[in-house]
Amino acid sequence: MAGWGTLIAVSAAPPLRIHEIFLSVQGEGIHAGERTVFVRFYGCPLRCVWCDQPEALAHTGVGRFTSLSVEEVKDRILAFPAVRRVCLTGGEPMIVHKDALVRLLDGLRAAGYWISVETSGARLVEEALERIDFWTIAPKGRSARTFDGDPVEAQVPALRRLLALPEERRQLKFVIQDGGDIEDAVGILDALGYRGPIVLQPEHGAGSAGAVFEAWPWARYPDARLIPQTHKSMGLH
Ligand code: SF4
Repeated sequence: MAGWGTLIAVSAAPPLRIHEIFLSVQGEGIHAGERTVFVRFYGCPLRCVWCDQPEALAHTGVGRFTSLSVEEVKDRILAFPAVRRVCLTGGEPMIVHKDALVRLLDGLRAAGYWISVETSGARLVEEALERIDFWTIAPKGRSARTFDGDPVEAQVPALRRLLALPEERRQLKFVIQDGGDIEDAVGILDALGYRGPIVLQPEHGAGSAGAVFEAWPWARYPDARLIPQTHKSMGLH
């Protein structure tokens, strides 16, 4: 009977809502330059006004997705030759049903993939913590206009759980549009007592690397890295 129960549970993993799967180069953060298969999930509970993936969101009116089984997603990833890095991105991968996400992660690990994820940090599938090799956690500052109140207070409690990960398995990435975002980034880092990699990424529309360079409090957080979206400057997806 136990065997049948297992079979039923496995076959019941719900389909995944996938916006796109593609091969490119990781363009953001401390793993920039690495050839990677991206799986972009559909949907996100946040509504950042400058989100650069509106077609992967439900509330924008331009969102679109394909429902694929876990095996279909895995097969599409494996179809790209000679690549063993995969990045789950969004949208928001952490809204995926736990059973489907675990099954996908276990399948990719068994196939030898190094798995990374890009998440806002607002939600977490606990079972994914040890199954994902590297976490990019991207809290949002006030320019995103995605929280009703103080974005620091809104995000710090959920972020604490993710910071239990070892430093070498995570980075905090802040998209910076203006000085208010820098205040919020510093507020989050201070509230967390953060230690580990920090990435400052100028917002793709109105953010300025020069302005971030001038305004960042380097004396307090001297090891932060200023890294723009390098794939866009290379003309890659
Ligand atoms: S958290 Fe990311 S995917 Fe979600 S709306 Fe904000 S920028 Fe877009």
